[in-house]
Amino acid sequence: MSATKRIYMDHSSGKPVDERVVEAMLPYMQKSYGNPSSLHGMGQEARKALDEARAKIAELINAEKKETIVFTSGATESNNLAIKGVAYRNKDKGTRILASRIEHMSVINSCKYLTTKGFETLFLPVDSYGFLDLEALEEKLAENTVLVSVAYANGEIGTIQSIGEISKIVHSRKAYLHVDATAACGQIPIDVKIEGIDLLTISSNDMYGPKGTGALYVKDGTRLEPLLHGGGQEKGLRSGTENIPAIVGFGKAAELTKKEMPTRAEHLTRLRDKLIKGLLEAAPYSFLNGHPTRRLPDNVSVRYSFIEGESMLLSLEMEGVFASSGSACTAKTLEPSHVLLAIGLKHEEAHGSLMFTLGKQSTEEEVNHVVAVMPSIVKRLRAMSPLTPKELVD
Ligand code: PMP
Repeated sequence: MSATKRIYMDHSSGKPVDERVVEAMLPYMQKSYGNPSSLHGMGQEARKALDEARAKIAELINAEKKETIVFTSGATESNNLAIKGVAYRNKDKGTRILASRIEHMSVINSCKYLTTKGFETLFLPVDSYGFLDLEALEEKLAENTVLVSVAYANGEIGTIQSIGEISKIVHSRKAYLHVDATAACGQIPIDVKIEGIDLLTISSNDMYGPKGTGALYVKDGTRLEPLLHGGGQEKGLRSGTENIPAIVGFGKAAELTKKEMPTRAEHLTRLRDKLIKGLLEAAPYSFLNGHPTRRLPDNVSVRYSFIEGESMLLSLEMEGVFASSGSACTAKTLEPSHVLLAIGLKHEEAHGSLMFTLGKQSTEEEVNHVVAVMPSIVKRLRAMSPLTPKELVD
């Protein structure tokens, strides 16, 4: 494979929009551009498209009815709405909020912000695979806890939580459970009814829909205060004219995902396991981050001792491979990932980590290329690193 070819393995940061999704969106940009709040025919056309998209997203997560889906601008907004919205509206019931230590920054920073408004937030530990410590959850789940926020699966290390089990514990104390399913939704089946989820964050681009739209599932009866005030769209929970083309695309992406999830997951899991095996065989002192099997089908996170993730990334890019050293949202900081530190890695171990996220268009040939170039990259960088033990260099 030529080095000029682009091998994209950073799908958790951004995915291509499915062609069928683009096709579904196009008419809503130039032909059917009415506002769903308008009473005339073109408004009603937009209203119909909005309702249909809502129904498709509700179906993907087995929501009780389509009205439980609130459209937002994406996962960050959904997480903010869930956390601040529940906190503000339920202050009479309690002021404690719990979240795991490996949540996305949109969850962590929403929780931290609430501490400036009279709330108490506690971040719960996880084990070395990234599974939530259920004993800590029970222990910290006091009577005044109003919300627990846990991601369905971690976007950096791929670990999938036992949401059903967590839900039982949370509900035994009458708190609400918010689940950030940004990384998981579309890759593995999610059933909000069976798993007992009160609020669920979903992102469009993560299932090959357009960026700039997402949703929050809000179970009927959940007490939630809006963050945006205005024309009262989305049942008053998210004012602002709906982004119909993007929402139509999101709906189409959800419909395709529901149909194609098993084949996509099978393809990804096969490539994932091949890539993990190849990367761990590429050099000694290499380790997998996260759980070997209870992990997202697209996620490969590994670490190599004695060298830095950043230098591996640069070398990979010279071979035409685009990967990541962690979450795109924290990639700009030089701090090691809070997720990797929370699973117990030392700073230098976290810095030696690399993340590859596969997509439905990823191929075996691409995986083979990465596996083929990795041994010489690690060897060369280790030879230059003062941390490498002598016997590994010679
Ligand atoms: N939650 C998780 C688990 C994520 O991985 C991300 C980033 N893709 C987000 C929330 C935030 O998504 P966005 O930046 O699209 O709002």
